[in-house]
Amino acid sequence: MTLREMIQNSKRIVFFGGAGVSTESGIPDFRSKDGLYRQHYAYDPEVILSADFFRSNQEEFFRFYRDKMLPLSAKPNAAHRKLAEMEEKGILSSVVTQNIDGLHQAAGSKKVFELHGSIHRNYCMKCGKFYPAKYIAESKGVPKCECGGTIKPDVVLYGEPLNDSVVRGAIDEIKRADMLIIAGTSLSVYPAAGFINYFRGNYTVLINRDETPLDESCDLCLHEKVGEVFEGLMF
Ligand code: NAD
Repeated sequence: MTLREMIQNSKRIVFFGGAGVSTESGIPDFRSKDGLYRQHYAYDPEVILSADFFRSNQEEFFRFYRDKMLPLSAKPNAAHRKLAEMEEKGILSSVVTQNIDGLHQAAGSKKVFELHGSIHRNYCMKCGKFYPAKYIAESKGVPKCECGGTIKPDVVLYGEPLNDSVVRGAIDEIKRADMLIIAGTSLSVYPAAGFINYFRGNYTVLINRDETPLDESCDLCLHEKVGEVFEGLMF
């Protein structure tokens, strides 16, 4: 059965995505051959983007974060746009994403579960005041609130727990779905990658450039670019 036929046979489709969904928007992922993990920094990205590092080395954290994690000029690609269109037409129930770039919402998606938070929400650790990503991008050193507190991006750092209500919402969506489209993820970041195991529906589709642990067990596996696959989809 083709992807289009599976979509036509389904009533509650959920999309589960990762960094590979945004590479066609010019944002590098982590684990591809041109991903951030293959570039060289004084510390591994996994170390810099950890709660411990944030506590102990904030200057260096924000230097990396500003340089690599704030792609504010990136635009949604065909995958983001088509998913928003599918939701609008009532074909797609929701997007569950590990991404923090906000591109699904920029494309018009409404029901988005951001498992790892968003670069677009930043808050003062002292008084709780919120700041947009632009404020962080334009600040120097450690960004400070007008009250003097440090501003922290609302993204889940390694070693930090995921937001409870976002997790509950995402799992509920996956449990109730009859089709799950998984795309652009190496399925190696936990607990997020484990949430797909809650799926009990009819079709599991995987669209990922490189191999994943799910290749053998899904109903349809496309080793293609996710933007190109969605671009070609007609309803
Ligand atoms: P990952 O880097 O571990 O894996 C990305 C996967 O996407 C790879 O297997 C690669 O083959 C595939 N891929 C890359 N471009 C693709 C394309 N155009 N079409 C299809 N497949 C493509 O990413 P992950 O599994 O999401 O885990 C990394 C973590 O890093 C996530 O938690 C995420 O929060 C974070 N992250 C987010 C962004 C972002 O917000 N855009 C960017 C980098 C990392």
